[in-house]
Amino acid sequence: MAISEFDLIRQFFTRPPQREYTQLSVGDDCALLDVPAGYQLAITTDTMVEGVHFFADVNPEHLGHKLLAVNLSDLASMGAEPIAISLALTLPKIDEPWLAEFSRGLFALAERYKVDLIGGDTTSGALTLSIQAMGLVPIGEALKRSTAQVGDLIYMTGCLGDGGLGLKIKQGFISENNEVSLQHFNCPQPRVSEGLFLRDIANACIDISDGLLADLGHILARSGVGAEIDYHALPLSKAVLHYIEETGDWQMPLSAGDDYELCFTIAADKAALLEGGDYHCIGLITEQTQLSVTYNQQAFSFKQGGFEHFSR
Ligand code: ADP
Ligand code: MG
Repeated sequence: MAISEFDLIRQFFTRPPQREYTQLSVGDDCALLDVPAGYQLAITTDTMVEGVHFFADVNPEHLGHKLLAVNLSDLASMGAEPIAISLALTLPKIDEPWLAEFSRGLFALAERYKVDLIGGDTTSGALTLSIQAMGLVPIGEALKRSTAQVGDLIYMTGCLGDGGLGLKIKQGFISENNEVSLQHFNCPQPRVSEGLFLRDIANACIDISDGLLADLGHILARSGVGAEIDYHALPLSKAVLHYIEETGDWQMPLSAGDDYELCFTIAADKAALLEGGDYHCIGLITEQTQLSVTYNQQAFSFKQGGFEHFSR
């Protein structure tokens, strides 16, 4: 016989709190969280729906990891330190092995960053998973999209396009060296420590979830500025370069999602602080409100806001 909802929560989603902020965890009508003096709570929610955000045959351990990772990535982009999450699960049935693996993937990442699961909701229906994540940031210090300055350098962490390539591989693209991109797509690593480091030095920041052009576009629109990107400065992995060579699809890294790297702007005189880290300068914030990408000495310009039209 299937276990009850109560047993399910106790068995798979109840762990002792790791943080002193957690005053009351799973088991009451609400959880209680202390916010220390001088801090604000940064709150974000991301939902994943079967058939939309993941494939039906997804490895549940990867899914648990990814659901939390995308939420921690949002906190990282604001420079917030993650402390707690709540979890809303809509399940078609109670599948204990599936839940055990999902919970293993979720808690492995949660424990890495000392994030407490403090509550949630469990209902039946089409498989839909939602996390609300909470983080601490000193009052007034959160990194925002709206504060890029003309003359800032544009940087990103890590590599661009591996998440997108991972999706292509899932959809049937075959090449050697697929492992890194597939791993990136299945189990993205949120840039939590980078977000905390950048809090004091970056002017604006966003995480790349929908593609560099779309996400940088949000910074530009909110800040009322433009950008020039040097395509040849983009950090592209061997696998992504190989994909472009094979297909000619050089725009993929610009438009594909699922990277979960941070894209940020920083005053030029602070850029030296980034030395030694996994940070790459990819362009410049400009006054004219356009997003232009230089590729093979040609400038391609993207309309602000939509970016669906790729025009010369
Ligand atoms: P209520 O009916 O009062 O909303 P529930 O019966 O839904 O409470 O939940 C009981 C307790 O279990 C609550 O503390 C709730 O936060 C927690 N909870 C429910 N679902 C989950 C879940 N998927 N993960 C973690 N905690 C959960
Ligand atoms: Mg209640």
